[in-house]
Amino acid sequence: MTKILVIEDEEIVRANILEILASGEFEAIGAENGRIGIEIAENEIPDLVICDITMPEIDGYGVLEQLRQNPATATIPFIFLTARADRTDFRTGMNLGADDYLTKPFRRQELLTCITARLKKQAAYEQRSKRELQQVEAQLNYSLYYDHLTKLPNQLLLRERFGQNLKQSGPGASHSIMLVDLDRFDEIVEALGHKRRDLLVQEVASRLTVAVNARDTLARLQTHKFAIILSSRDSSKLEAIAQQILKLLNRPFQSDGDEVCLAASIGIATTVGDGDDLDGTIKNAQIALSRAKQLGGNQYQMYSPELQRVSIDKLALESSLRYALERGELLLQYQPQVGLSDGRISSAEALIRWRHPRRGMVSPLEFIPIAEANGAIVPIGEWVLQTACAQVQQWRAAGLPPLRVAVNISARQFQQSNLTDRLVAILNNTGVPPELLELELTESTLVQNVAEAKQRLQEWKDLGLKISLDDFGTGYSSLSYLRQFPFDILKIDRSFVHDVNSDPKNAALTKTIISMAESLNLKVVAEGVETEAELAFLYRHGCGAIQGYLFSRPISADDLAQMLCSDKRLSLVIGHL
Ligand code: C2E
Ligand code: MG
Ligand code: MG
Repeated sequence: MTKILVIEDEEIVRANILEILASGEFEAIGAENGRIGIEIAENEIPDLVICDITMPEIDGYGVLEQLRQNPATATIPFIFLTARADRTDFRTGMNLGADDYLTKPFRRQELLTCITARLKKQAAYEQRSKRELQQVEAQLNYSLYYDHLTKLPNQLLLRERFGQNLKQSGPGASHSIMLVDLDRFDEIVEALGHKRRDLLVQEVASRLTVAVNARDTLARLQTHKFAIILSSRDSSKLEAIAQQILKLLNRPFQSDGDEVCLAASIGIATTVGDGDDLDGTIKNAQIALSRAKQLGGNQYQMYSPELQRVSIDKLALESSLRYALERGELLLQYQPQVGLSDGRISSAEALIRWRHPRRGMVSPLEFIPIAEANGAIVPIGEWVLQTACAQVQQWRAAGLPPLRVAVNISARQFQQSNLTDRLVAILNNTGVPPELLELELTESTLVQNVAEAKQRLQEWKDLGLKISLDDFGTGYSSLSYLRQFPFDILKIDRSFVHDVNSDPKNAALTKTIISMAESLNLKVVAEGVETEAELAFLYRHGCGAIQGYLFSRPISADDLAQMLCSDKRLSLVIGHL
């Protein structure tokens, strides 16, 4: 029942109003002065207050003022009742927040109409406030559970949905988590700027939505990382989805008239046991994702315990790599290259080794990628250059014939902006003439930023350094494309040289590479020559030099010095070719 409080000091008037209200089916409460009126209003929270203005103790204005100050009573509709019909009184009341004004004497109908109108208005107001509150709540929920850029669920909602899925599918059911992370996205963003990045991320989100079933949850976790909950553990189904995602993302994106090519790495893991461990499953999917990245990206990997072991190993290696340099655990070996015209050692490639205190020798194939990823390659690379140059100088000082040393430069090291300055400083400090230092680069290093790479290689060339293209044939670029870089030497990758006699495809490729290199005026070195048959083939087809176990494995600087002293040659072997 609607509760109305009547504050009126004149008893007759009060009784009269109370009676009218009671007959109008309101619950009416009377108060004989302002103080009592406020007390009742605060305790009972009536739906409406009718209040006289002129009263002893606290007058009507005072009552209204106090009620408006208290949040619990602030919005109760308030009607003034007075014999005074002065315009100023009216204004004062309205300014204090009164809703209406009734002048005594009033008729019964007048009072009831006024009350009904006020209550109606109040109901409409309450309705609106409720709607607004619901909207604010919905907005709050939205920003709590959804990513504003892509409108996809966020991590929190992913968590909730995972819980819901578990409840719905019952015990024993398993689910899978697929993590999708865009490859090299930071580099791409650097070139595009942030506004275009956001548009790109939105487009990625909508392509991912296409690949995902309506039952599955696709969420955005970080700038370029998405997660999908899939209610399946069937690996062929999961793989099909991953393949479709890769395909969708490989289609070029349009960005302000530019074509942008994206790729992603995907890690997939399935819940184990009771299947309620979201964090564990995400962690496993992350291990699989890291593996996919390590293998070059643009691919998916399914989690397996074996992967976990590899990743723990890698972690341990990574932390000990940080100290390897300071602890003097790194060393260089040198593998001679021999010219096929005279069988003599023409140069040597410096190859790094890590003598790990517990594991023994760790292959550069294992730790160089880690050093690349965590940045340790920069100080390590500098150490290699410094050590190799110092070694050249030492051989020269010992009176040995001048020997050029080739040093491998990794991609991250190549991006180092002051690399040329460092090279000059090292040459100056050690006193090595530039032509005795050769720098080996791979295609993938150069194609990351062609214009910059060209400029840098030209600087090196101008300094008098020798430049070689390492592992040729393992990348995707054609030799004519690579012609734009000023190389001196081309090293044919071991995989082509291997079995060159029994594998006609390798034989044809090696032959073509040798003749093309010749036409480009490049010296050719064949890597990984292990057998006399391989050597014979290379010799026959005009390869300039070889490097491989057949002549020598990588050896210590002292052993190489001895080899030079004794003038070890390949001539014996060439003799009966
Ligand atoms: P790479 O530059 O292509 O070096 C040649 C690799 O082939 C060396 O492996 C060498 O030991 C191996 N090899 C030479 N002859 C033969 C052969 O007849 N048969 C076989 N099976 N292998 C042969 P290594 O020393 O394990 O180095 C592997 C890779 O690690 C190198 O490939 C190079 O990319 C990288 N690396 C080595 N040292 C450094 C370094 O100081 N800095 C950087 N950035 N990378 C390095
Ligand atoms: Mg090399
Ligand atoms: Mg190589």
